Amino acid sequence: MSAIREIVSCLDGYDPDALHVDKAREAMKACITPISDNESLPIRNALGRVLAEEIVPRINVPAQDNSAMDGYAVRIADIEQPLVEIGTALAGKPFAGTVGAGQCVRIMTGAVMPAGADTVVIQEVVKREGSCIIVPPGQKRAQNVRYAGEDLKIGVPVLHPGKLLRPAELGLIASLGIGEVRVKRKLRVAFFSTGDELASIGTALKEGEVYDSNRYTLHGMLQRLGVEIEDLGVVRDDPKALEAALRQAAKADAIITTGGVSVGEADFIRQLMAKLGEVLFWKIAMRPGRPMAFGRIGEAFLFGLPGNPVAVMVTFHQFVRDALLHLSGRRDDYTIPLLRATAADNLRKVPGRTEYQRGVLFREGDVWKARVTGQQGSGVLRSMAEANCFIVLEHERGAVKAGEPVAVQLMEGLA
Ligand code: AMP
Ligand code: MG
Repeated sequence: MSAIREIVSCLDGYDPDALHVDKAREAMKACITPISDNESLPIRNALGRVLAEEIVPRINVPAQDNSAMDGYAVRIADIEQPLVEIGTALAGKPFAGTVGAGQCVRIMTGAVMPAGADTVVIQEVVKREGSCIIVPPGQKRAQNVRYAGEDLKIGVPVLHPGKLLRPAELGLIASLGIGEVRVKRKLRVAFFSTGDELASIGTALKEGEVYDSNRYTLHGMLQRLGVEIEDLGVVRDDPKALEAALRQAAKADAIITTGGVSVGEADFIRQLMAKLGEVLFWKIAMRPGRPMAFGRIGEAFLFGLPGNPVAVMVTFHQFVRDALLHLSGRRDDYTIPLLRATAADNLRKVPGRTEYQRGVLFREGDVWKARVTGQQGSGVLRSMAEANCFIVLEHERGAVKAGEPVAVQLMEGLA
């Protein structure tokens, strides 16, 4: 048996003709080995990339104990008496001496704690009397002091391989004085649309034709994932043209096709894909997006999405996104969160498939509610454009009554 079939046949409850969405995700993850190539980048260029090394501090952050507030550095044992101010500690300009009994130092936020002092009293509560200060009662030892290594400690790993680099991680790496990081190389993803009925923008529509919209939604979704994109255009439902396109696309890490996997068309594509690689044809228990192909052609993973524009977006978000993130080397938790909302209307649903209805999450008083965006046909792309969330109706669930809880996935940052 070939590799992919062997892996999926070991999964409990794997049924290619009625595949649970979770099982489809699990199957893809099980078959995909993350890329191993790395590169070094200046941190400024590493936003959105996947960390490929462990970041272990070689310095403490902060490097020394310092003040968290503007005020006075004191010895807690002395504060019941007036304290003589003997100098000033500024951020970047430490006080050189030592705070002795009955003394204090004026200190600013970020300034190193002077020797001898253990506590900072904020300036607002202190009374001045000549060159002395009077500290009111109620101060706690060590208050307003930030300790060396409190943020990051020498030798204690702080970021692990597989982490997405966001602005916070870039700043954290910079705080360690590190200017370059090892990251995974970008994924290369090739895609094309299939269909004799597809017209490209810029040509007049002939009877029975539709403009190819899938390549544009795919382009946008892939751009948001931060991969390198190769758009191979529209490919006719013709074995020679499809073979050439698949061979070209197989030079990438992943191939995404749309159209041609529904039952009426699958036979000829099935044969072709079987000839070029190892591809499984699934009927996923979901709506929209039932038919889908997954497999490998050469070194590239293949995701054969349905042709219907909404099904393309839903299957991309529910499967391809996670599969590509796994392939890219991500090891942090990138699951799209499921939030709870209240159904604003009755929703039609039959048990036995997961539905991703296009919804609008809105607030009514203190309650977050979700309503569907009109017609839910898998060809109605307007349902996506009007939506700000997917209303996720679980596999086992039947019809939903207004007022019942539903799970939603926000599209912000996704679609
Ligand atoms: P298929 O999966 O190829 O049977 O296509 C299903 C439906 O999606 C048909 O109505 C197609 O015309 C439509 N469709 C397929 N590909 C595209 C595309 N790239 N852009 C817009 N509609 C498409
Ligand atoms: Mg087609």
